[in-house]
Parts: sequence; structure tokens; C-alpha cells
Amino acid sequence: MDYQRLADILFPNVTDTPEMLEERFPARNAPEGAVITRMAPSPTGFVHLGNLVQGLTSERMAHQSGGVLFLRVEDTDAKREVPGAVEVLINTLKHYGIQFDEGASMDGDNGNYGPYRQRQRAAIYHVYAKKLVSEGKAYPCFCTEEELAAMRQTQEANKETTGYYGKYAMWRDRSLEDITAQLSAGNPWVLRFRSTGSIENQFKFDDVVKGKLTITENDVDHVLLKSDGIPTYHFAHAVDDHLMRTTHVVRGDEWLPTLPFHIQLFQALGFKLPKYVHIGPLMKMDGNSKRKLSKRKDPELALTFYKAEGFPVAAVYEYIMTLLNSNYEDWRRANPDAPATDFKFSPKKLNPAGNLFDYAKLTDVSKNVISKMSAEEVYALLLEWAQEFDADFAEKLSADKDYAVSILAIGRGGKKPRKDIAVWKEAKPYMGLFYDEYLQTPVFDEKFSKETVRTVLEKFLAIYDPADDSSAWFDKVKSITEEIGFTTDMKAYKADPAAFPGTVADVSTFIRQAVTGQTNSPDLYTVMQILGKERSLARINEVLKSL
Ligand code: GLU
Repeated sequence: MDYQRLADILFPNVTDTPEMLEERFPARNAPEGAVITRMAPSPTGFVHLGNLVQGLTSERMAHQSGGVLFLRVEDTDAKREVPGAVEVLINTLKHYGIQFDEGASMDGDNGNYGPYRQRQRAAIYHVYAKKLVSEGKAYPCFCTEEELAAMRQTQEANKETTGYYGKYAMWRDRSLEDITAQLSAGNPWVLRFRSTGSIENQFKFDDVVKGKLTITENDVDHVLLKSDGIPTYHFAHAVDDHLMRTTHVVRGDEWLPTLPFHIQLFQALGFKLPKYVHIGPLMKMDGNSKRKLSKRKDPELALTFYKAEGFPVAAVYEYIMTLLNSNYEDWRRANPDAPATDFKFSPKKLNPAGNLFDYAKLTDVSKNVISKMSAEEVYALLLEWAQEFDADFAEKLSADKDYAVSILAIGRGGKKPRKDIAVWKEAKPYMGLFYDEYLQTPVFDEKFSKETVRTVLEKFLAIYDPADDSSAWFDKVKSITEEIGFTTDMKAYKADPAAFPGTVADVSTFIRQAVTGQTNSPDLYTVMQILGKERSLARINEVLKSL
């Protein structure tokens, strides 16, 4: 067979050569050991936690080594693409702070190794497709859907592996005449790889995360170009990662089964194989067993979920780091204030089996991260969140910034800062008592008579003085307690509760409920200072009217 002739027939318009492309995309001028890597997501409209895990791993590997991280949009599957998905993708990754040095962006592409969107690279793939055909390493296949289905049925009936291989590879060795006859009839074709592998052969392979693997050779003649001339993931991966000079491919381990084919393809194309970093899946506990997080069942897989709940980006980042590198938490304890990027991230420490995602732990981490922020910082992030997800609250927050900041400053800054808020969604219930419109109506414990509550509140109104310090304030609460025959001796009360009609804690709760509407609140003395005398007392008066 005259392969060069076949190549010219199949790709008459391809005049560029691999050599020209090598020149156009020369080896990068990167320091020794620099990791050149990429995020290569498909724009499906759904950006998930796994994308972020992959993204942060790539980002750390690149930037820790003085290398490059770029964003390549893998949009070869037009059927899966939803309108606006590329924008969603770029904006979501941006929200999570992944810094790309080059690649696709909202203002077009930047960098010398583009285009960075695969559908714009068709001409490039065809150069290599033509080369493979001319060397007898790829061939056109005119099988119809029906023929492929029939082949599959036969294989299933014979209990054989399904796929286009060996004697089933119908177009592998067809003559030029057969091929040209199909072409002149205008029949569609795909380009297939001519595999020289055998499943009898195995070889060793070293993956950065998975370690030493024993791999069985691929014997399937996989599709390289679909009938519309657009490449499959496999072919695009080899061509793009070679020409973009990727040194490390960080991707999900769902690609491991096709790795043997990828290795073969790089060899056939004469490309140096990059290093592979195959990341295990994210799992969750479901009852007593672990399972992969699923798009259908688990809303917490979508990154939009974390944004809407109001997890600060820093908290998600912090949590993912604890998930990926088991020594991160120790490092954080030793370096509580250092930027997370000071940590020496190691892809080798990733769990080859994947990681158990623990929502409760994320919430804990987030509480910690927020508790360490300044009130100003919390205000800015909360406002940004509210502007998108709770316009009414955003309005209140921005109407009086100093007031909001003083609320957020309660219990902040000390050795043991308060940890009331894990997500911005919780800020409104927490802060609501400071805004008259969000104030709840108190429901007093029915154990106590209305009369008792009223007496306490009236006495309190009579002696409250905003100039008191917190201990003078509390002394007054204690004196009211004694006046109504409740006890201030909590020890005695605990030993024999039946001996007392109530305690100083109950008295404080009446006042707290009258002022805040709630049985729980930050330090009541401070709350009243922030509300001011007039509003505090007006609230108590209002409650008195309803008693
Ligand atoms: N588009 C592929 C995916 O989203 C990329 C895998 C890779 O990083 O090579 O799974």
C-alpha cells in the first residue's frame, strides 16, 4: 500500500508539516525541574470539586517549581456542550483563585502555544493525522453504526472482549481501491490508529500518584479523528500536550484504562511522554460504605454549591489542602498565619485510592478560617456574597458599614475567637438580632409565669445604665435575681434544682430574649452596647407590651 498516496488523498489540503509546528511551538525556556502543566476541562456547564482538586494540584506543581499553568478548553464534544459553559468554567476557576499563566480567558486567549480551545486547532491535528497515515500508523474506517453494532453482538455472543481490534478491525488492511471507492461514494469515515500492541504483553509504568503500575498493551484500533474531522480526547491529548510542551499531565484516574493507548500514541507520533499524575476519585460515606461522589445524587459535588452556601474561597482551599496532603494540618498548626502557598505541596502524597470528602470537616475548617479573619475582611466577603445571593441583606450591610463591622467584631481577635459562622448563609441568622427587620419574637419558657418575666424586665429597665462596665452590668442582673427569689448560686442549684424557682441564668435569658428575640446570642452586654440604650430599651418595652 502506498501510504503517502493515501495520506494525500485523505488530507489534500494539509500542507503544513510536523517540523513546521515544532518550530512554531518551540521547547519552552523553563528552568530545570519546572513543571509545565495545564487544566484541560471540558465545558459541560458543570464545574465540580474534582476539577478544583485537579486544578489546585496542577497549580501548586507548576508555581512551586517556577513552571507554567495554562488553561486549555477541551471542547471537542460539541454534543455535551451547553451554551455559556466556557464562561461558567473560566469564571468559576477564577472565583476559586486559580492563577493561569496562559490559555483561555474571558478576554480571549493569551500565550504563545495556542489556540487553547481544541475546536480551533483542527488544522493542527490534521497535520499529525496525515503524518500517521503516511507512515501506515493510521487508516480510514468506513464502518457504519449498524456494522459496529453487529460486531459488538458477535463479540458478546462469543464472550469476547468488545471493540475494534484484531480480526474485527474490518478496515485495517483494505486496499486503496476499496478506500477510494468509499470516498467517491461520499461515505463518511473516521481515522483509526493502527495498533501494534498485544494484550499478551505487559510493561511497567510509573505514575506520580499511583506508583508502579503493570500495564497491558493496547490492541484496539481506537478512533483518532471523528467523521467531522474533530479529534477524540486521546489524539488531542497527545498532540496538544506535546505542542504545548506539557511536562506533567494531572488528570482524573478515569483515564487510566486508556493510558496504554496514550503511551502508544505518543510513541507512534515520536513525542516524549509526559509524566502522569492520576488523581483518585472523591468519595463520601453513604451509610457504612464509601462511594464516589455523584453528579446526580450529591449537590455538594458542584462548585456552585459552595459559592451559594457561602464558603470563603480560602476555606475551600484550606480544606482541599488538608485532604490532599496529610501533613498539611500539622504544618498549619505550626504556621497558623503563613499563606497556604508557603506549604511545600507534594503530589506524591496524594492518596492513590482517592479521598474521602468530609463535609463536616470542611465546615469546621471554614469556621476556623473565618474566625481568623478581621471584621473588615469578613464584612467585605460577606457583602460580596450577599450581593449575589441575598440582596436585601446586602442592602442592610452596606447601609451602615461601621455598624455591621462592629457586629462582626464581637469576639474576634483574641486567642480564642468566636466561631459562629461557617458559611455566609449563616451570617444573617447570626447577625439578624441587630437588624430590627430580622428580629424574631421571643418565646419565653412556659415554666415561668408572664408575671415573673415582666417583673424582671421592668426592674432591668429601671436600672440599666449603658455607662456600666460588663461586671457592673452583671451585678445588676444578679441583684434582680435575688430580689425575685431566684438564686445566683449555680452550684447549689445544680445540686438540688427543686429547691429554687429559678436562677441568674434564667433571668439573663429573659433579658436576652427581650433584647435579641433569641435564647442564644453573643455576649449580651456587648450586644446592648452595639444596639445602644435607646434601641435596647425600646425592644424590651415592646416585649413588655405583649406580655
Ligand atoms: N477533558 C478531559 C476531562 O475533562 C481532560 C483530562 C485531562 O486533563 O487530560 O476529563
